[in-house]
Amino acid sequence: MQLSKSESLFAEAQNYIPGGVNSPVRSFKAVGGTPPFIARGQGAHVWDVDGNEYIDYLGSWGPLVLGHSHPAVVEILKKTAEGGTSFGAPIEQEVVLAKLICSGLPSVDSVRLVSSGTEACMSAIRMARAFTGRDKIIKFAGCYHGHADGLLVKAGSGALTHGIPTSAGVPESYARETLVAEYNDIESVEKFFLANPKSIAAIILEPVAGNMGVVPPADGFLQEIRKITQDNGTLLIFDEVITGFRVGPNGAQGLFGVTPDITTMGKIIGGGLPVGAYGGRKDIMDVVAPLGAMYQAGTLSGNPLAVSAGIITLTELQKPGTFERLDTLSQRLTEGLTDAFHKAEIPSTINRVGSMFTGFFNPGPVAGLSDAEASDTEMYGRYFHAMQEQGVYIAPSQFEAGFVSTAHTEADIDATISKVSAALISLR
Ligand SMILES: *Cc1c(COP(=O)(O)O)cnc(C)c1O
Repeated sequence: MQLSKSESLFAEAQNYIPGGVNSPVRSFKAVGGTPPFIARGQGAHVWDVDGNEYIDYLGSWGPLVLGHSHPAVVEILKKTAEGGTSFGAPIEQEVVLAKLICSGLPSVDSVRLVSSGTEACMSAIRMARAFTGRDKIIKFAGCYHGHADGLLVKAGSGALTHGIPTSAGVPESYARETLVAEYNDIESVEKFFLANPKSIAAIILEPVAGNMGVVPPADGFLQEIRKITQDNGTLLIFDEVITGFRVGPNGAQGLFGVTPDITTMGKIIGGGLPVGAYGGRKDIMDVVAPLGAMYQAGTLSGNPLAVSAGIITLTELQKPGTFERLDTLSQRLTEGLTDAFHKAEIPSTINRVGSMFTGFFNPGPVAGLSDAEASDTEMYGRYFHAMQEQGVYIAPSQFEAGFVSTAHTEADIDATISKVSAALISLR
């Protein structure tokens, strides 16, 4: 049988790259089969090297809130590249992006740019430890904060899909500093404060979980976390790598009205180029070198290309009606999906916050990790392939978020709903 171009590329890739991919979530381990190699993207659509077209809801795992190759992003990238791609010295655009971030997130007085969400979270934890003089942190099972040692404990997403509860290579002594609580369960947090008085530096969490599939915070959960951290001299870190400038102009903290001490960002603020950031209260940020004793650095941090793409993305998002439009489109999609699943008599729960959503093969409600894990992943795998067949690109795992961008049109959404109905028929 003739191999497709993607199949031969994937076979070749496996000779040179572990598993043929540069991030495990891109392999199709959870759903089987060969990942299509993508040739190009335009707006809400991508094309693979075999010429198949897909309506894209992966959005590069979150950054592409404006869709692929947005004209304003492409233009600034060309212009910036012509003037030099890296200097390792301050540039004006860094100040512009930092100001945009600080004005979007009032809890952020100052912000340090890095090159990935992983770096942002790793640095934020180090900063919290430096500021409090404490070692332990609390994270939640199923929340992902990048792959730094000590955060790779029950890390959700790729780790969940690949059945790796805690990564090999993380010293047990190191993992012991990470206490793992249950999302949306305040008692699981209180327990740790009782057992570890005055030794917890920070709680880090996704204010809307996105890496066990989308799970919104339960009513009052973020407020309770805010209170218990304040009462115990513990810093609160919101990991807004997905939610920042996604669920609203002021992130999840604006949407839910809860103010963290530190915020980590990534994805959208780089407009599809490698960026991360961590920021927060001025007195905390003052511990970062060169002002303070906590060291953190980066050769390509504040890179001109990445920063320029971020500025354009945040500026586009500020245009009136943008978030309303994202919300309306996303609602149209998830209502259509709910209907389609209902008609096909397939038990499902669709969780959505703004333009991030997950359809769980699960009668629900899906309010935490154990609910998410009870989903029918075998059925998801078959659905995934049926959707590929229909020309819709979604995450190759049940435990991921889907994303709507400003490039999606009503026609894209309606076409998607028809394709979902067709895919569901083939599942029965
Ligand atoms: C993607 C993600 C990260 C890690 O960001 P990278 O840029 O992939 O290192 C951290 N936290 C959350 C919530 C994420 O979704």
